[in-house]
Amino acid sequence: MFVGHYAASLALKSVEKSASLGVLFLAVQFVDILFFPLVLLGIERMNIIENYTASTHFELVFMPFTHSLVASFLWAGAVYAIVMLMPSKQLVKKRSVAFVISAGVLSHWFFDLVVHTPDLPLASDHTLKLGFGLWNNAVATYTLEAILLIMGLWLYLKSTKGHNVIGRYGMIGFVIFLLLINVLNIFGPLTDDSVTGVAVSALVSYFLFAGIAFWLDGKRD
Ligand SMILES: [Zn+2]
Repeated sequence: MFVGHYAASLALKSVEKSASLGVLFLAVQFVDILFFPLVLLGIERMNIIENYTASTHFELVFMPFTHSLVASFLWAGAVYAIVMLMPSKQLVKKRSVAFVISAGVLSHWFFDLVVHTPDLPLASDHTLKLGFGLWNNAVATYTLEAILLIMGLWLYLKSTKGHNVIGRYGMIGFVIFLLLINVLNIFGPLTDDSVTGVAVSALVSYFLFAGIAFWLDGKRD
């Protein structure tokens, strides 16, 4: 799953408004942000196979450190601890911010579970791998991600208020942009068959989208 993950960021922001939306955008892709460098280092493995599923060109072979359920809980716990170590006067608020950010990290696995083919390991030994395989149906995958994202947007817009034109319409425009990007992502042909190219463009997208979300969120109260 790609843009659908941001539904969790938008929903969690509506739960805890002190959490940065930019950080929540990075949190929901945290394990992917680790995955691509680990692939480039040869620690985790993916192959690029054109039309491997109806929605993707990726065969995800080995990813115990980022995409196992056990690892996801450990990363979420680590992120919770890091936020708690940051200086802040209000302990209750900090706990709540740490909770939603780590929930964002953990959400990645459960969103992936719906779409991935059985490639998500439960633990590091890779004996049991799960995935409901919605990726085998491109229209269903696109529709699910779009519905999730629009629901997240709705929760976000309900809980915050724009104080100028960018504030009022910017996030709606950004979600439309993400939905268009996902048309290319799911229905588009394979444009780059190098793992390095895929990794770099994924990482650039994650940070760029987080930056845009952070900027637009600053235009709302
Ligand atoms: Zn992932």
